[in-house]
Amino acid sequence: MNRNPAHASAERPCTFSAVVPAAGRGERMGQRKALLKLAGRPMLLHTLERLMAARGCTEVVIAVHPDDLECFTSEWADRLRKEFRVSAIVPGGEYRQQSVLAALEATRAEADLILIHDAARPLVQPQLIEQVAARAAQTGAAIAAVPSVATVKEVNADGRILSTPPRESLWLAQTPQGFRRELILRAHRRAQDEGFLGTDDALLVERMGVPVVIVEDSAENLKITTPADLVVAEVILKRQQDAGAARSR
Ligand code: C5P
Repeated sequence: MNRNPAHASAERPCTFSAVVPAAGRGERMGQRKALLKLAGRPMLLHTLERLMAARGCTEVVIAVHPDDLECFTSEWADRLRKEFRVSAIVPGGEYRQQSVLAALEATRAEADLILIHDAARPLVQPQLIEQVAARAAQTGAAIAAVPSVATVKEVNADGRILSTPPRESLWLAQTPQGFRRELILRAHRRAQDEGFLGTDDALLVERMGVPVVIVEDSAENLKITTPADLVVAEVILKRQQDAGAARSR
């Protein structure tokens, strides 16, 4: 099976606005994740760098924790605007979904395509970002995902296994997730009106009966959630940097 029909980064890059939720409390890290350092630099800057390395990103809107808003808009704003095309910094909400909606509302109305990418995934490959953008432009909705290497059990409240879905059909959703702007705004507003909280943005589109396709990603695009993830991320980053240096020799 060709798991990734989206070898689409080639000729003409698709333009998109990026939405970066960075307003998490980072409870499992003991400090705000976006400012947490990876190889000596705030994680958020790594993530923004990857977005800038992808072709087609016309603006970035970041949702930050309300307590950090002042610091971002005074100290950081200029640099973020000049180096990372940040057009707006908005206060996030209690849940990720609320942070994403706040940032979505602040994207340019003329943007056709939106790519939502977690600040907590700083190791994303620029080429993958372009592939998701291209596939979302073709289909309306496309997300990065990795095939499950685990056997997953559906279990009831008593701890009894109800089913074991075939592993070949199971994929783990990651970000970036790309959508036509009108579609993702409609999906988010509807979820908000109905008081529905999803665990990713694609789910809000799926529940409207709109198809979403996947683009095969690498497990290296991990979400940094725990201190152990940070250790792994440092190793992956070093490997990626060494590979990049070797390619440019
Ligand atoms: O909470 P989780 O680790 O899944 O967060 C994924 C991304 O969503 C992170 O980049 C985090 O900063 C962001 N987030 C947010 N607003 C929240 C919770 C999480 O922007 N209320």
